[in-house]
Amino acid sequence: MRAVFACAGCGAVLTAPVSQIALPVHAHHTYGHELLPALMEPGAYAVDPEPSGPPWRPWSEIEVDEAEARGVFAPVYALSFGAPGAIVVAPGDTRGTVLIPERCGGSCYGVDGRDGPNLACARCGRPVATRIDDCSYWQAVWLAPHAVRRLPADGSARRTVDWETPAEEREGTPPVEPSGAWSPRWEAAVGAALAHVLVASAGAPVTVPDGLVADTFGRALDALLPPGPPAKKAALVGPCLPAPDPAPGIALVPQCPRTGKAWQDHPYARPF
Ligand SMILES: [Zn+2]
Repeated sequence: MRAVFACAGCGAVLTAPVSQIALPVHAHHTYGHELLPALMEPGAYAVDPEPSGPPWRPWSEIEVDEAEARGVFAPVYALSFGAPGAIVVAPGDTRGTVLIPERCGGSCYGVDGRDGPNLACARCGRPVATRIDDCSYWQAVWLAPHAVRRLPADGSARRTVDWETPAEEREGTPPVEPSGAWSPRWEAAVGAALAHVLVASAGAPVTVPDGLVADTFGRALDALLPPGPPAKKAALVGPCLPAPDPAPGIALVPQCPRTGKAWQDHPYARPF
């Protein structure tokens, strides 16, 4: 169902009609030192279930069990203890907002949201969102969860791309950029999948097939898992691939970027 987001204070509409998709896995990854494109495509929004924005607490002030309760098991510079549920949209889908000049801090080329919400409702002046456009960050507007209200919008939902959609109609992302560097989207996706493979390995060595899987996972698995005879094989399993024989111990299945659901139509496939 399509929705618009409106100011919780005065009711002014703050976005174009948008449909919900899964939060991109690279949403909070920073990359390189260039201006990155928009995180979200036009007409889409996503919700971040984790806390975001200030107050931030440095790692030295966070107890171990506090961090583990958040799913963080290795040191990070700081953790947000702001409200969960921020809504992210493409900057071009925002309506009726103005910058708050005294909150436009950033590191380099633009604003990074360090001071909290930097966009106000143009009608009533309440802080409602954070525009991020600094280098290394995905361009985005994050609506503050308690400052906006979701309202139903007219019009049909976006056409859904599913596993039956012909491959030529799906949007692909090449693993390597024209510059020759790894795609930042692939870097984040491979990093997230690697964590799942490590859990599925139960700490035993894993082999992967030659080619793209070895290029993306092989060195990291060799470095992170102990040497020895492989306990499991990991292989790609998906809607356009022949069924592997024998069945791999770990099936690497695709995840729908719209719904966030793992493909699991094959008996070998197990959602991570
Ligand atoms: Zn308002």
